[in-house]
Amino acid sequence: MHITVWNEYKHQDNEYIHSIYPDGLLGAIQQAVEGKDATVTTVKLTDPHQGLTDELLEKTDVLIWWAHVCHDEVSDELVAKIHARVLRGMGVIFLHSAHLAKPFKALMGTGCTLGWREAAERERLWTIAPAHPIAKGVPPCVVLEHEEAYCEPFDIPEPDETVFIGWFKGGNVFRSGVTYRRGRGKIFYFQPGHESHPTYLDPNIRKILYNAVRWAYNPEIAEKPAECPCLPPDEQL
Ligand code: ZN
Repeated sequence: MHITVWNEYKHQDNEYIHSIYPDGLLGAIQQAVEGKDATVTTVKLTDPHQGLTDELLEKTDVLIWWAHVCHDEVSDELVAKIHARVLRGMGVIFLHSAHLAKPFKALMGTGCTLGWREAAERERLWTIAPAHPIAKGVPPCVVLEHEEAYCEPFDIPEPDETVFIGWFKGGNVFRSGVTYRRGRGKIFYFQPGHESHPTYLDPNIRKILYNAVRWAYNPEIAEKPAECPCLPPDEQL
């Protein structure tokens, strides 16, 4: 399995973020998902081809996307390529503020807006589908002392599965871990992960990311887009 972790990276190369994440957000996410069954590439928006050459995208089995303020800088051409590869079977995981990322919005078909509050408040992340593969080994409630609050209503289509619900000290709730299928591809959106909190160093959050990648992996990505063939009848008409 090949995992590609994409991060817009802008506004993260500073002392404050490095004091929280010594290896950066990208490094923390990479360390959470790597394993003997996987190779991991990390890329940035500022890399050539916005981090995703055709060659890299074509070898990516699961794409992880963290983005915050540079959504509009991602080219529509790249979004179309990602969308097409998901339909062929690539898994994709959108993290935190990637709810407004162009590839996520293209796959959802809705505005993907939500309410938010940056007050470093406690989040209780409730596992509401304990039998789901993404929740394997995750306790019923994961407490994150400091997170950005994301609040319903979250303008997404009704999820195929809701695995986690977040409760915030300020009183709001949020569908924090939801899954979809689009074409042959599996999609997981996961809310925790504001850049100024050490969320991706939490062992339970890392377990969720690790599980999510394995769940989203499809060993049989189609070589071509699905077609609309005119079919002969199986029985004489
Ligand atoms: Zn945030």
